[in-house]
Amino acid sequence: MRIETLRIAGIDKAVSRIALGTWSMGGHLWGGGDNEQSIRTIRHALNCGINLIDSAPVHGLGLCETLIGKALRGQRHSAVIATKAGLQWDDGSPRRHATAQRIRKEVEDSLVRLETDYIDLYQVHWPDPLVAQQETADTLECLRREGKILAVGVSNYSCAQINDFSRHTTLATVQPPYNLFERAIDSDILPYAKQHSLVVLAYGPLCRGLLTGSLHSAARFAEDDGRKLDPKFTAPRFEHYLAAVAALDIYARECHGKSVLALALRWVLDQGPTIALWGARSPEQLNGFEEAFGWHLSADDLTHIDRILANTLKNPIEPDCMAPVKR
Ligand code: NAP
Repeated sequence: MRIETLRIAGIDKAVSRIALGTWSMGGHLWGGGDNEQSIRTIRHALNCGINLIDSAPVHGLGLCETLIGKALRGQRHSAVIATKAGLQWDDGSPRRHATAQRIRKEVEDSLVRLETDYIDLYQVHWPDPLVAQQETADTLECLRREGKILAVGVSNYSCAQINDFSRHTTLATVQPPYNLFERAIDSDILPYAKQHSLVVLAYGPLCRGLLTGSLHSAARFAEDDGRKLDPKFTAPRFEHYLAAVAALDIYARECHGKSVLALALRWVLDQGPTIALWGARSPEQLNGFEEAFGWHLSADDLTHIDRILANTLKNPIEPDCMAPVKR
């Protein structure tokens, strides 16, 4: 098996097209976590050739970056660390804050937690409407020149915001939600990224676990698990999404001898210059990741998949519920 890779401008290593997302490891909004298991998961991913680790200070309220720092002791340079700035969480609930002063503080805090002196990819987590794009972008550009970060990205930005931002710094990546069920970027961000040679870090490629095929209608989420309030995981939509997953699984197995999980990852990888940010929190959850590599979905496959979705999803919905409040 050959791991598919691509290049991110500014980073001198080839980057695996499946990345490890660490949000759920932090436990916060995911019903708790297991630190030792998380560290094992990060090391396991790296040993398997998954070298891009995506995080954010707000994940686990600082915990995830600390776990990455510990996991990468002695092998920091084999990994490509992507983390973020621009959210503040004094009272536990994240708010947008992307002033120069805030970002300067965040980068220093992240470097300490990550036990490193540089961050490969530094991304603005959410656009802050109260701060001029130029202030945020100029700050990241200065950090890049100082060598504290190697490449700049943005997350959850519109095309207009990306355009404005990239007038002030060299932008390498965008990070929007993207999976078989959540495709809003097809009409704007994805074509924009292709046109401007930006790499797309697709978050939620398994739609918060739905597209793993392991959830069922009796699934109960912990009190603190964000999926408890997510309209995709509550009636009446949950049943419809589960029906779609079951039909996709049959299609994947009959036509390609693959699982729905592999199909979901392949679908993301086949859409353009994409990387799938897989949120695994145990080494076992990464089992079979290589099934996503080395094959492609045909135009016929894509038509079939769309037909399955049209027949099963009566009232699909985008992940807007995940946006943090503005200040
Ligand atoms: P995801 O990757 O679609 O789903 C993650 C969840 O799926 C896991 O926590 C796990 O839940 C379940 N799962 C994963 N592999 C599995 C397997 N083999 N079998 C069964 N269940 C499995 O969603 P995500 O974590 O929301 O997104 C991935 C990453 O994208 C994040 O970690 C983060 O790095 C990034 N992200 C960024 C933003 C942003 O605003 N920029 C927002 C969201 C996410 P259980 O352990 O509960 O089963």
